[in-house]
Amino acid sequence: MKRLVPAEPYNGGVTSAPPSPTTVIRPGPSPARLDFASGIFDYAPAPESVRPEIAGSYGLFIGGTSVDAQGGKRFATTNPATGETISEVAEASAADVDRAVAAARAALPAWSALPGIERGKYLYRIARRLQERAREIAVLETIDGGKPIKESRDVDIPLAAAHFFYHAGWADKLAYAFPGTDPKPVGVCGQIIPWNFPLLMAAWKIAPALACGNTVVLKPAETTPLTALRLAEICDEVGLPAGVVNIVTGAGATGAAIVEHPGVDKIAFTGSTEVGKRIAKAVAGTDKTLTLELGGKSANIIFEDASIDQAVEGIIEGIYFNQGHVCCAGSRLFVQESIADRVTAKLRDRLATLRVGDPLDKNTDVGAINSRAQLDTIERYLRIGRDEGATLHEVNGSALPDAGNWCRPCFFTGVQPSHAIAREEIFGPVLAVMTFRTPAEAIERANNTPYGLAAGVWTDKGSKIFEVASKLDAGVVWLNTYNKFDPTSPFGGFKESGFGREGGRHGLRPYVRL
Ligand code: NAP
Ligand code: MG
Repeated sequence: MKRLVPAEPYNGGVTSAPPSPTTVIRPGPSPARLDFASGIFDYAPAPESVRPEIAGSYGLFIGGTSVDAQGGKRFATTNPATGETISEVAEASAADVDRAVAAARAALPAWSALPGIERGKYLYRIARRLQERAREIAVLETIDGGKPIKESRDVDIPLAAAHFFYHAGWADKLAYAFPGTDPKPVGVCGQIIPWNFPLLMAAWKIAPALACGNTVVLKPAETTPLTALRLAEICDEVGLPAGVVNIVTGAGATGAAIVEHPGVDKIAFTGSTEVGKRIAKAVAGTDKTLTLELGGKSANIIFEDASIDQAVEGIIEGIYFNQGHVCCAGSRLFVQESIADRVTAKLRDRLATLRVGDPLDKNTDVGAINSRAQLDTIERYLRIGRDEGATLHEVNGSALPDAGNWCRPCFFTGVQPSHAIAREEIFGPVLAVMTFRTPAEAIERANNTPYGLAAGVWTDKGSKIFEVASKLDAGVVWLNTYNKFDPTSPFGGFKESGFGREGGRHGLRPYVRL
């Protein structure tokens, strides 16, 4: 039989040489074993072999160069799977934010005057460079944030590149996006993002802003600054004019300095509803425009006529994907009463097989919790859920590493709508299972939340899909699937999940003046 030899993998920016295509890597004496408790074979370790180059310290990316923070303040970023410090990063003060805003302001006239087709070329170059450096950046994302390598490799980095490709295409077609108008850029955009999809959120923010002729000051989250700084490197590599993209690292105070800066024309924020409300107050009464992508408590609704095995996979994807660090996580499960026992039995079986542990292992399903603080929050909700009288099902027995932040995926049954675990965002791998009898009851209970980011509906009946989906107060409704993203599709919330959309033609709107 003809043997397919893989092409030489691209090794851009990577220190350790990848194995040559003819090398067969054997993991030593086979650690594969039969786990008699669960009746499944465990996999041999499959650690990612590439190690990205990580500097001992990083500066701020302002005006196209790396600069120290004024006063030289720095903070450490750690690997949540090991607790080890990975690198030190500059902590931007209000004065540093002022420098970044000045750089963005200075770059604005030339950048916004550039023909759209020329701006698009830069975006295409960034997209291609992200693809070329994808493996290195995926590993870095996993080391800094704790998510499984299979997710950063297959979801985060490819989608980030896709966002740049997609918006590159819009750069010279804005007049078609908004027919009969003459779209103009908004100006200097202050963008603040969270830690759950660090590079992807940066792409969601920067790509549409640049396509529309704006310049940017972006702040990544304190715990995951490294891939945004790689993106800064790429901006430099592709010759993006200095000051068009500025990256300022820091904590909440750095974000607040961006929000309060009078030279910023627009704020785009993704993060918690609590901070979002504070930002909305700070921006009220100013000339700044604002978009907010906030928290969620999304419902996944399973009807008795659904394909149950498929739905169980959707539940797993909905809440345990990325350790439940997903704003649109399907954290409330509504199961039709007649199938509740079957669904929970299958859920238990499936949950037992999820592999929790080393995020750099290619077989890992659930990685590390992003920070000690987030783990404390999750553990607090586990206690609250038990105290409120719900039943916690901890059926996953993965052996966890000694160091780092870990939470095994789990779910609660016996949950009442009034329970905190049914109302508040936990942002971890914890599912609240509830039941319903009729479609009307499912809709009413799913909508009984201050949030409105996403929902999932599982049924074999097309008419029921459209009936239920049209009555759910959620920005995104997935039908017989969950957590699927595409740059062409607008994403955003209702109610306390925020306003404004990212992606699609709708996502361009906040970045233009018409
Ligand atoms: P967060 O505490 O609100 O932080 C988000 C970002 O805002 C971080 O960069 C943070 O900096 C910064 N920040 C903190 N205080 C600030 C202030 N007073 N002014 C300006 N910026 C400030 O949220 P998180 O805990 O990192 O992220 C989880 C939340 O994000 C969840 O609620 C999740 O649902 C939401 N989220 C929503 C979406 C969406 O599209 N709707 C997507 C992803 C996440 P530091 O991290 O450095 O403190
Ligand atoms: Mg980190």
